[in-house]
Amino acid sequence: MGKKGKSALHVSDGVNQPPSISDDAVEKYKKLQKKNLSSEDYFSGIRDGNRIILSQAITVIESSLPEHQILAREIIEKCLPFSGESIRLGITGVPGVGKSTFIESLGKFITRRENKLAVLAIDPSSNRSKGSILGDKTRMEELSADPNAFIRPSPSAGSLGGVARKTRESIILCESAGFDVIFIETVGVGQSEVAVHSMVDFFLLLMLAGAGDELQGIKRGIMEMADAIAITKADGANAKVTGRAKSEYQNALHLFPPTSSGWIPHVKTCSALTHEGIEDILITIDEYCELTKRNDYFWNRRKEQAKYWMYETIDESLKNDFYLHHKIKEVLPRYEKKVIEKDQSPFSAAKDLLDRYNQ
Ligand code: GDP
Repeated sequence: MGKKGKSALHVSDGVNQPPSISDDAVEKYKKLQKKNLSSEDYFSGIRDGNRIILSQAITVIESSLPEHQILAREIIEKCLPFSGESIRLGITGVPGVGKSTFIESLGKFITRRENKLAVLAIDPSSNRSKGSILGDKTRMEELSADPNAFIRPSPSAGSLGGVARKTRESIILCESAGFDVIFIETVGVGQSEVAVHSMVDFFLLLMLAGAGDELQGIKRGIMEMADAIAITKADGANAKVTGRAKSEYQNALHLFPPTSSGWIPHVKTCSALTHEGIEDILITIDEYCELTKRNDYFWNRRKEQAKYWMYETIDESLKNDFYLHHKIKEVLPRYEKKVIEKDQSPFSAAKDLLDRYNQ
C-alpha cells in the first residue's frame, strides 16, 4: 500500500454521490447517464475514476437481467487488464464485534496515506429492507464523507455463491477505477468467510475479549484462515481482558499447523474508539504483503483464486441451469417426496433427475 497522492470521488452506499472530478467531466457523465451506456462508456468512466459510473457498473453486475449480465461481462473483460494492483483485505467478526467502527478507523489511516479505499461486503442473508451490513447509511459516517473512500453495500439477492461472485467482480471494477486498497467485510457467522477468504490477500478476524468461552465464538476453521486476529474494544475497563485474550489466542494459534505463506499469524489488540493499535494493524498488513510478495506466495495465491473462481462460476451456473430447467422443476417435488418416504434411494433419484436433464 504505497503512497499515491491521487484524489477520488466517493459513494456512501452505492447510489450517486457528489463526485470530486471537474465540472466538465460531471457534465459529460450526466449526458451519458441519460442514454443507455455501452460497455465502452462504463469502462472509460471507471478508468476516469468516476464513481457514479462505477456505482452504476456494479449495479449492472448485480442485476439478474440477461441483457445486464451480457453488459456486465463486457465491462469486466475490459477492466480485467487494469485490475490486480490493490491489496485486498477480508474483515470478519460476529455482529457487535465492532466491524464498522474498526473499518472506519483503519480506513481513515489508509486514506490519510493517500491510498484510495473501496469497502465492499458479502452478506448473503442481507436484504436491504432489513438493513444489511453496510446498507445502513449511518454506519461509517466519516469514511463515507472521505473523498478517498468508496463504500458499497453487499449485493442483496441470491445465493452465497452468487453474492460472492458479484463482490469478486466488483473488486475488478474498483481496482480499474484506481482503488488500491479493497476491504471485503462479512459477518462472522458461517460460510461467507470461506468465500471472502478466496478473494482476499489478507484475512483479518476481529474478536471480542471476555465474551464467554473465548474460543467458541468463532469456528476453529475460521481462526485457521486468519492472517491476523485483532481483539477489539481494548479501551477503558476492557483493556485488561483484551490483554489476557491476546495471550490466549496467541497460544491457540500456536497449535495450528504452519501456513504455506511463511507468515506467522499475529494477534493484536486495538480500540477503534481511541484508535490505539489500529495503525499497528496496518503495519502488520504491510509486513505480510512485503513477505508474501517477496516469496511469491502473494501472486501464487492470486492465481489459485482466479482458478477457484472459474470453477465456482461453472458450478454455480450448472446448478442454476439444472434447477431452473422446466424438465427438472416440474418433477423435483415428486422425487423429493419419494426420497423422504423411502420409495426411492437418494442416489437413484438423483440419477433419474440427472438423466432426465441430460436427455
Ligand atoms: P459491527 O456490528 O461488528 O459492525 O459492530 P459496530 O461497529 O456497529 O460496533 C458495535 C458496538 O460496539 C457499537 O456500540 C460501538 O460503539 C461499539 N464499539 C465499536 N468499537 C469499539 C471500541 O473500539 N471500543 C469500545 N469501547 N466500543 C466499541
